[in-house]
Amino acid sequence: MVSRVIPVDQFDLVIFGGTGDLARRKILPGLFRRFLSGQMPEGARVIGAARSDLDDAGFRDMIGQAIEEFGGEETADKDRLAAFLECIHYVAVDATGEGGWAQLKDLIRENVVRAFYFSVAPSLFGALAERLHGHGIADRNSRLVVEKPFGRDLETAKALNATLAEHFQEDQIYRIDHYLGKETVQNLMAVRFGNILFEPLWNNHYVDHIQITVAETVGVGGRGGYYDKSGAMRDMVQNHLMQLLCLIAMEAPNQFEADAVRDEKLKVIRALQPVDFHHIVRGQYDARGDEPSYREDVENPRSHTECFVALKCQIANMRWSGVPFYLRTGKKLKGRTSEIAVVFKDLGHSIFEGDEKRHRNILAIRLQPNEGIDLQVTIKEPGPGGMRLIDVPLDMTFADALGDDVDEATDAYERLIMDVIRGNQTLFMRGDEVEAAWAWTDPIIEGWQTRNDVPKHYDIGSTGPEDAMMLLHRDGRRWREIKG
Ligand code: NAD
Repeated sequence: MVSRVIPVDQFDLVIFGGTGDLARRKILPGLFRRFLSGQMPEGARVIGAARSDLDDAGFRDMIGQAIEEFGGEETADKDRLAAFLECIHYVAVDATGEGGWAQLKDLIRENVVRAFYFSVAPSLFGALAERLHGHGIADRNSRLVVEKPFGRDLETAKALNATLAEHFQEDQIYRIDHYLGKETVQNLMAVRFGNILFEPLWNNHYVDHIQITVAETVGVGGRGGYYDKSGAMRDMVQNHLMQLLCLIAMEAPNQFEADAVRDEKLKVIRALQPVDFHHIVRGQYDARGDEPSYREDVENPRSHTECFVALKCQIANMRWSGVPFYLRTGKKLKGRTSEIAVVFKDLGHSIFEGDEKRHRNILAIRLQPNEGIDLQVTIKEPGPGGMRLIDVPLDMTFADALGDDVDEATDAYERLIMDVIRGNQTLFMRGDEVEAAWAWTDPIIEGWQTRNDVPKHYDIGSTGPEDAMMLLHRDGRRWREIKG
């Protein structure tokens, strides 16, 4: 349910790759939800542009079916769906040739926001940017949305940035990391910078360590070929986990504005120390019963690509010096959990006789399941018999605490697309941020290659390889539970 509607400008949104998987599963169902919530102004248009030889009616059929399949319960209203489909058009365009560009130019309107979503393989970004510019379809006010992966190392990311920069300015380029569109990720900033309670404690005097976990229960699905060339470091750590790390560790920007936020995130990435190879664990899942192993899933019996990574890293600045950041992500794990946990130091001395446990406050920001915030506090165990202390959660699941005001249906994609239309780049990665993230990641991946590093094995449904546990045990710490 949506409670507040922020007006959006009139727009023409062209989706290159409009017939593709991402467009059908995420982008168009998401736009339909925005339409239902009244956020698409009357007359706003979505134009699919792809290779298939379709007309408006054919594309509308395809998208109608996709919305029925992927749109969720709230999109079941047939009349509203028909009204939405009226806003949709299609042009067959060849990204690498000249076919279709004149028709696209005729269709696109002056005096509205023009946004171009590149939901195609990154190898086509350059050709699309060049043609949009060359045919006079994009102007200085037009916006480009580009999908991940943004390069596969520093060199390719730089090349991609340079290609886009030939025709577009940085303030026109919206690099999507859909993690940044999640409600809780934005809430992380609200909690940190909107309360007096946390910021004074947010440093190495009070924080023992920070854990970031993104655990998946799914395997590589149908993307085995792509995934095996990428791996968890490129697919998850370089972008999603790194972005979460930046938001948790950055200094307060002087205002909540795109470049102010992104300047602070960039400083964090640049302050990350190189990771010691003893502080990284990679893994691949084994077969279990009739569930195939990672190597069987990607059809590469000799694969050395990791689908699990756990690492310890440090940020070399005054706020975080000496505070380890533990990151882990993996596939086919015990549960589907994404959270950031700030584990505070213990008090060092207990006034309560017999209380030998080292109690810690923990602030956990949960992205899934049940988006919310959980603060572990220490209280007296109820009942007679003296002062025995226990740790209990002050759990605020947003859906319970905020009821109807929680917009559960809003997916990260649709929120981010609406930000593009509004011209708000705060939740998008800047070119220099992406490059800095690769500059930190590249030596790790290169190191694995030169050492011919072989990932450790782990059981499907576990919490990852044994060595990942040891990474924290060695430091006298332990991972938070991944709930099954
Ligand atoms: P897809 O293969 O399903 O679709 C590709 C689209 O590109 C199709 O519409 C096709 O017609 C179009 N296309 C291909 N060559 C073309 C050409 N020469 N001219 C014009 N159009 C052309 O791919 P996808 O899964 O939708 O992924 C699109 C992009 O989004 C990729 O960069 C991918 O990495 C990224 N991405 C996808 C997902 C996902 O869940 N599918 C998630 C994150 C990022």
